[in-house]
Amino acid sequence: MLRTLRNCAVSATLLLLGAVAPAAALAKSGAAKPVATAPARNDTAQWCARLSERLPGVTSASCQKQSLVATGARSRNGFPILIRRFSPPKSRDLKNRDASHPPIRILLLGGIHGDELTASAIVFQWMKMIPNGAAQNFAWNVVPVLNPDGLLAARPLRVNANGIDLNRNFPTPNWSVEAPRYWVKETGSDPRRFPGKVPLSEPETRWVNDEMQRFKPQVIISVHAPFGVLDFDGPAPAPRRFGRLVLNPVGVYPGSLGNYSGKFKNVPVITIELPNALAMPTDAEAQKIWLDMLDWLVQNTGKPAPG
Ligand SMILES: [Zn+2]
Repeated sequence: MLRTLRNCAVSATLLLLGAVAPAAALAKSGAAKPVATAPARNDTAQWCARLSERLPGVTSASCQKQSLVATGARSRNGFPILIRRFSPPKSRDLKNRDASHPPIRILLLGGIHGDELTASAIVFQWMKMIPNGAAQNFAWNVVPVLNPDGLLAARPLRVNANGIDLNRNFPTPNWSVEAPRYWVKETGSDPRRFPGKVPLSEPETRWVNDEMQRFKPQVIISVHAPFGVLDFDGPAPAPRRFGRLVLNPVGVYPGSLGNYSGKFKNVPVITIELPNALAMPTDAEAQKIWLDMLDWLVQNTGKPAPG
């Protein structure tokens, strides 16, 4: 009886979270055989229903059309980190890319701060544009909601469910001295900016770090709000303007992704700060930012060797 109840509880949890149970977890749970998991489509429906309640302009149906899949990583509260991977079409003769060269890899991240709703919502808009124009020549890994727990909290939060500012939790040099010192001295121990006790303490930041090693992005784009500027870290000419957003470096912080990837790992990070965390830019403005960003990518990433 106990075993049946326990297995039921496991099944219910798996259904709720849409989990694929690791073998070790099943063994621990005492399950005699693997528990069948819900079809991926149903999982996506559940995830999208929750996300669409929060994200301006994102309906459950439009979210589901994006075919997001679970990365295998989960937030502190167990919500999956969802990703969509785009590769250039193989069968077509692409104008701007020599097919014998691998495409440039771009990691596009939305909503590392959960209370910046537009920073996730606009990534859903941009995902619709990737299969068109110059964008399709790149390989994109897109994570529209990097901090689902902050986004889905009763009141959206900048930090994750563990109270950590994920964008201060990356292992920049001398983090253990600099990050706590900055937090205390420069932010007055602001709980919205707590970097954590050790770098990469959070599943969300560990996933980004692992993804940097797996996917080896050549450019990372991280979307924020509400400062209405562009920021840039790394070894490439900085973009000057995307739409109405003008380059205006917001500073270098211990533990930030820009600092870690752009300055320490030499992988450029474009930080897009939308002008409002709750109200979306107009469609025209969102498209202009996107097109200007593509222009920058085309101009500043590896060009095909002459044939
Ligand atoms: Zn932010």
